[in-house]
Amino acid sequence: MKKIALFVLALFTVSCALAQTTPPKRPLPIIDVHVHAMKVSPGFAVEMCPWFLRDMPGGDPTQNLQMRAFLNTDCVDPLQPAKSDEEMQKAVLATMERLNMTIVAYGDPQILRKWKKAAPDRVIPGIGVSSPNEMSVQAFTDSLSSGFYKVMGEVAPQYQGLSPSDMSLDGYFAAAEKLNIPVGIHMGTGGNGMANLTQAKYRASLGRPFLLEDVLARHPKLKIWVMHAGYPMLDEMIALMGANAYVYVDLAGFIWSYPQAEIHAYLKRLVQAGFGKRILYGTDFMMWPKLFEASISVIENADYLSFDQKRDILFNNAVRFFRLDANKFK
Ligand SMILES: [Zn+2]
Repeated sequence: MKKIALFVLALFTVSCALAQTTPPKRPLPIIDVHVHAMKVSPGFAVEMCPWFLRDMPGGDPTQNLQMRAFLNTDCVDPLQPAKSDEEMQKAVLATMERLNMTIVAYGDPQILRKWKKAAPDRVIPGIGVSSPNEMSVQAFTDSLSSGFYKVMGEVAPQYQGLSPSDMSLDGYFAAAEKLNIPVGIHMGTGGNGMANLTQAKYRASLGRPFLLEDVLARHPKLKIWVMHAGYPMLDEMIALMGANAYVYVDLAGFIWSYPQAEIHAYLKRLVQAGFGKRILYGTDFMMWPKLFEASISVIENADYLSFDQKRDILFNNAVRFFRLDANKFK
């Protein structure tokens, strides 16, 4: 008995010594370019099963559709929403530390400032304008000039029934171009049944990547990334990126909502078409802290991507696009 105790003690000593000599390995850095810093609203906080759009329910306009009907919660372990702003902030900060992750975040200004204050090196704040009714060009320019915001996003004119090239938005893009601020524009998928549920002005046709051509032509120095990679309009996306050498895409939203075979087919085609250096990793995080890991796993499990291609998507491409200093992440 005593011998065993001594043996265990010896093992313990050895493992302690090992633990002291080899510091815990930090994961390689990740940049998530699409995070919503939202106030928690209890009515909207629901459980969610990732990749839930595998079965688009057939509805009827005479029936009252509920948001819940569109978020399938029929899985073993649905993701839980944060229940308060404090819980949300704690979970987001802890996840960033654990995954060695930096986020580009936009949304509620107060929440965003709290996150930034708590993790100054891990939060890159953005401010979006989707319609001229939200704020004047002057107010927007002043906000950008304050230095707090490094990114313009999420810009989502599609939900307002506007094309991104609509002249009513041109002054905002001109300001971003002048101040060298990169712009993220929502193009493509907006969630299943959004036009019926909460976004009556939403038009699928206003997510066509080709609608960006005029704004790109008017602002040749503007750096644009197409959020949601223009899903599902892959051919237009590829043609637009071919014609415009500075356009990048992010994978946000569809990476956790559509079936995995569909996500991989889309991503694989973008890489196959030669755009592996222009794909940014983004989640479209809203309220489920475990969504970060669930979404990253899609990239990590993509067997058609090499290690280097995964690193490009998860980190290197964002460093280049946002003109960051890679050394600061070491
Ligand atoms: Zn979006």
